[in-house]
Amino acid sequence: MTECIFCKIINGEFNTEFVYQNEYAVVFKDINPKADTHLLVVPRKHIESLNEVDDEVLLGKLMMTVKEAAKVAGLKSFRTVINTGKDAGQEVFHLHIHILAGSIRL
Ligand code: AMP
Ligand code: ZN
Repeated sequence: MTECIFCKIINGEFNTEFVYQNEYAVVFKDINPKADTHLLVVPRKHIESLNEVDDEVLLGKLMMTVKEAAKVAGLKSFRTVINTGKDAGQEVFHLHIHILAGSIRL
């Protein structure tokens, strides 16, 4: 049984609403938003951080997912952030890409 909070979300354990999803990733609202719109793009596969990624195709798919999710959310301008490692502020050790738009409080 996984202890990873994002794996649990992906498995539907919290009935989290997905703003967008595809074969590679799910996208949902950050629980503690740092911007008017704050979404997280999370690969279905558990990978701890960008440092552990060895699949460049998946990385490309994730960036395409960012673009698709932003479009679905009606965002034309947005910032993407990937925190890698504890000292950079990574709190959840399942790779994710932040999408921030509107007034950003980072
Ligand atoms: P990071 O600091 O890059 O690891 O970002 C982790 C993000 O996950 C933070 O912005 C948290 O607010 C968010 N987060 C943690 N738990 C949840 C949850 N259950 N649902 C949605 N977002 C979450
Ligand atoms: Zn996970």
